[in-house]
Amino acid sequence: MPTPHAPCADAPTSPYSHPADAVAADLGTDASTGLSARSAADRLAADGPNELPSKPPVPAWRRFLGQFNDPLVYLLLAAITISTTAWILEGAEGAPVDSIVILAVVTLNAVLGFVQENKAADAVAALSAMTEATSTVLRDGSLLVVPSSELVVGDVLVLGEGDQVGADARLLSAAALRVVESSLTGEADAVVKTPGAVGADTDLADRTCMVHRGTSVAQGTGRAVVVATGADTQMGAIARMLDSVEEQDTPLQKEIHAVSKMLGIVVVVIAVVVVGTLLLLAADRTPDTIVHSLLLGVSLAVAAVPEGLPAILSVVLALGVQRMATRKAVVKKLTSVETLGSASVICSDKTGTLTRSEMTVQEVVTASGTCVVTGIGYAPDGEVAPDADRDGRPDADPLEGPLRDEVTVVLSGGALASDAELTVTEDVWSVVGDPTEGAFLVAEKKLGTHGHREGRFGRIGEVPFTSERKMMSVLLTDTAHGTVIMSKGAPDVLMEHCARVRVGDADTELTAQARARFVEHIADMSGRALRTLGVAYRVLTDEEAARARRAADSNGGADLSGLERDLVLAGVVGIIDPPRPEAAAAVAEAHRAGVRVLMITGDHPATAGRIAADLGIVERGAPVLTGRDLEGMDDGALSGAVAATSVYARVAPEHKMRIVHALKSQGHTVSMTGDGVNDAPALRAADIGVAMGVTGTQVTKEAATMVLADDNFATIVDAVREGRRIFDNIKKFLRFLLSSNMGEVLTVFGGVVLSGAIGLSGHSESGVVLPLLATQILWINLVTDSGPALAMGVDPSVEDVMARPPRKPTDRVVDGAMWSGVLLVGAVMAASTLATLDIFLPGGLIETPLSTDGLGTARTAAFSTLVMAQLFNTLNSRSETVSAFSHLFVNKWLWGAIGLTLVLQVAVVEAPFLQAAFSTTSLDPVHWAVVVVMASLVLWVDELRKLVARARAR
Ligand code: ATP
Repeated sequence: MPTPHAPCADAPTSPYSHPADAVAADLGTDASTGLSARSAADRLAADGPNELPSKPPVPAWRRFLGQFNDPLVYLLLAAITISTTAWILEGAEGAPVDSIVILAVVTLNAVLGFVQENKAADAVAALSAMTEATSTVLRDGSLLVVPSSELVVGDVLVLGEGDQVGADARLLSAAALRVVESSLTGEADAVVKTPGAVGADTDLADRTCMVHRGTSVAQGTGRAVVVATGADTQMGAIARMLDSVEEQDTPLQKEIHAVSKMLGIVVVVIAVVVVGTLLLLAADRTPDTIVHSLLLGVSLAVAAVPEGLPAILSVVLALGVQRMATRKAVVKKLTSVETLGSASVICSDKTGTLTRSEMTVQEVVTASGTCVVTGIGYAPDGEVAPDADRDGRPDADPLEGPLRDEVTVVLSGGALASDAELTVTEDVWSVVGDPTEGAFLVAEKKLGTHGHREGRFGRIGEVPFTSERKMMSVLLTDTAHGTVIMSKGAPDVLMEHCARVRVGDADTELTAQARARFVEHIADMSGRALRTLGVAYRVLTDEEAARARRAADSNGGADLSGLERDLVLAGVVGIIDPPRPEAAAAVAEAHRAGVRVLMITGDHPATAGRIAADLGIVERGAPVLTGRDLEGMDDGALSGAVAATSVYARVAPEHKMRIVHALKSQGHTVSMTGDGVNDAPALRAADIGVAMGVTGTQVTKEAATMVLADDNFATIVDAVREGRRIFDNIKKFLRFLLSSNMGEVLTVFGGVVLSGAIGLSGHSESGVVLPLLATQILWINLVTDSGPALAMGVDPSVEDVMARPPRKPTDRVVDGAMWSGVLLVGAVMAASTLATLDIFLPGGLIETPLSTDGLGTARTAAFSTLVMAQLFNTLNSRSETVSAFSHLFVNKWLWGAIGLTLVLQVAVVEAPFLQAAFSTTSLDPVHWAVVVVMASLVLWVDELRKLVARARAR
C-alpha cells in the first residue's frame, strides 16, 4: 500500500515491456480492486490534475487594459491630449472639464466591456464544464465514473466501446479491444490491443499493450492501469502544437467586424468633411475653435462606429447558449447557435430519440404458433399466453406443449445473450443496460422460467453487437449440452445464419416454407410498429468448442463470428417501443418551420415506416429506403433519392455519412444525431452533429457540436427555435445600434451643413456652431446605448420564429432591408433633433412663441430629443414588420434599461455637477413635453413603414 504523499512508486520507464502485473504492483495498485479513494485523492493532490499543459490565463488587469487597445480609444486619448493642451495654453483656468468627461466616459466604457467579456467567458467555461470528459475507474473495488481530469497514476481504467481514453495506461486485460489512435499516430484504422508485453524498443504505434490519452475505443472492452497523466502522457508531449488552435470568430462575428470597419471608413470621411467645413466657416481660427472642431470630428467617428457591438454580440450568444443548456441542449461552440437557426433538415435516430426506448416484448412467434405477452413497462406483471385469434383457434389454451418449449428457448436465449440487468427499488422496476435486452429479461420473468437456467450456463466469450452486424452472440458452457453459441439480432439478418428451426424440444430443417412464414410474421409485426428480434442457437461440436475456448482464452481480440453459422432459429419476438409523447408535436413544429425531418434507423423498414407515419414524418405507405438500397445507388442517384425519401431503415453508420453529403450537396444545412462510436464521422460531416447525452458514447459527444442531455428529438426542435430567436435578437440590437449611430452622424452632419437654415449660425462669435457637443455624443454612444442593446439581446420572441422557412446560410445579417430601415430611422432621428433645436432657437425655418432660448438650452433639448428618440427606437427595433405595440411589455429587461437611461438623461440635464460636465442647462416642463413629442416621431414614422411593409407582404 503506498503511503500518503509518497503516493506512488515509479512506473517503469517502458511499462509496455514489463508484465502487466508487475507494472500494477510497481504502481502500488491492486488490479482487481483499483486504488482506494483515499490514495487516489492523495495522488491527485501530489501530482496535480490530469490536464494538458496550456497557456496561463491572462490576468484580469491585462484583460482590463486590453479594453483600451482599440483605435477609437486611441482617438479619444488623443482628443484628451489636445483638449488638455488647449486648456493649458488658455491659462489653465478652472478644471479641464472636457478632458475629464472624455476620460470618465472612456473608463466607463472599458468597465462595461470588461464586465461583458467576463460574463461571456464565464458562460463558455460553464459549458465546457458540462461537456467535460469522464472515465470509468475501479476504486475500492467498485466502478466509478470520474472527470478524466481526476485520473491519477495507478488508477485502473475500465474501457468500453466508444470511450475516450483519459490517460496513458498499461493494459491488464482486453476482450476484442480495438483502439483508434489516429490523433496520436496518424493510423486511421483501429488497432487491436492485447495485454501481452512488447519489446522495450517498440515504436509508439506498435505498443499494442498500451492505450494512450486522446485515443478512443472502437470496439471491445478492457482494463488498464494508468501509468502517466497530464503533461507526462504522449499527448502531453504534442500538446504544445495543439495549443495554438484558437477559437475562430463565427461567420456572424466576421460580418459584424466587416460592417464596423466599413462604417469606420465612411465616418472618417464624413468627420474630415465636417471638421474641414467648420474650420473653413470659422471667422477666426482660435485654438479653442480648432480644438472644438477636432473634438467634434473625433466624437463623430466614435459615434458612428458601434464599438460596443462585438462585446454585446458575444454576451448575447453566450447567454443564449446558457439558456439552451438549461433546456437540455448543450451547445459546445457559439458558432453552432447561428447554424442551428438555419438548420433545414434534421436527421434523427429512431430508438430513444423519437421513441421512449422503454421496450416491452408483446409477441413471440415460433414454429408452433404465436404467443402474446401482456403488461407494459419493466415491471414483470403480465403473462405469456397463446394467441388464439392468430392461430385460428376459438379459445386460448394454457401455454403448454411444443409452443411452451419454443417460447422458453426464445426468451431465455434472449436473456442469456444479454448484458442488461433488471433491478427493483421501492417497487419501481428499471433496466440497467440496453433496453432491448432488458425486454427479454422482463418477458422471461413473466413466463416464470428464469429460475430454471440458474447454475446451468457460464459465459466464455462474446461476439459484440454492432450497428453494422445488427446481431450479437455469446459463447456459453451448458451443463446439459456442453458448449453452445446463443445469438440474437435483427431477424432478417439472423435468419441468413440459420439452417434449422426449433420445433418442440427438437429441431428440423428451416425450409423455404417455414422461412416464408416467419418473414410474413415479421412483416406483420413491423407493420404494427413493433421492433423485431430473432433468437437462435447451436450446440458446438467438441472440436469447435475446444478451439473456441482456446481462442477466447488466449487472445481477447479473437473473432468468434465464424461460429455464427447453421444456427437453429428458436423464434422471433415483437417488441413495442412507444413514441415519445412530445415527438409528434415536435415533428409538426419542425415542418411548420420549413425544416424537413428524416428518420434514419437500424430498425426494420416496416417498423420504421409505421412509426414515421404515426409521428407525422411521412404519410402512411410512403417509401422507405434501406441500407441495401443505398448501396446500390451512386452519389447522383442518392442525391435524387434524399430529396424524395424521409425514412431510412436497416442503415449502418457509413450510410448516414452518405446521406449527410447528399443533403449538403443540395444546399441543406444538416443536423444529424448519433450515439454509437461509428456515428462520429457522420456527426462531424453534418453542419450540426448532435450526440445523445445519456446513451451516447464519449466519442460521439466529442465529435458533436451539440449534446442532448435528455436524448430527446423535441429538444433538437427547441434548440432550433432558440437558435432562430437568438439570431432575431442579434438583428434587433444591430438594427437599434446602427440606426442610433446613423441618427447621431446625420444630426451632426446635418447641423453643420444646415446651420444657417435652422438658426444655428449666429450663436457663436467664432462661427463654429455645433448642434451637439463632443461630450454629449460620447454620452449617448458609450453610456446610454449599451443597456437597451443588451436587453434586446434577451428579448422574448415578438414574431413566431417557427412560422417562416429557415434562413439561408448565405443570407447577410445586415441586409438591404435592414440598411434602408436604418437610414430611414436615422434620418428621422436627425430631423427631429435638428427641428427641436430650430423650435427653441430664434430664427431658422420654424418660428414659434417658444423660439426664444439661448444656444445652451436649445442644445440641451436637442441632446435629450436624440437620447429619447433612441429609446423610442428600441421599441421599433424589436421587429422589422410587427408593430411596436404588440407584446409591448413582455421584456422587463428592456423596460428596466429604458427606465435607467431616462433617469441618467434627466440627471445629466438637471444635476448641477453633470450640467457643468456636459454643458447642459435645466429644462422646464414645456421643453420636456416638446422633447418627448419630437422624439416620438421616430416611432410613428416606423410604425407607418411597418404598416406598408405588412400590406405589401399580404
Ligand atoms: P436507431 O438507429 O434509430 O437508434 P436501432 O436501435 O433500431 O435504431 P440498431 O441499434 O442499429 O438500430 O439496431 C438494429 C437492429 O438490430 C434492431 O432492429 C434489432 O433487431 C437489432 N438489435 C438491436 N439491439 C440489439 C441487441 N442488443 N442485441 C441484438 N440485436 C439487437
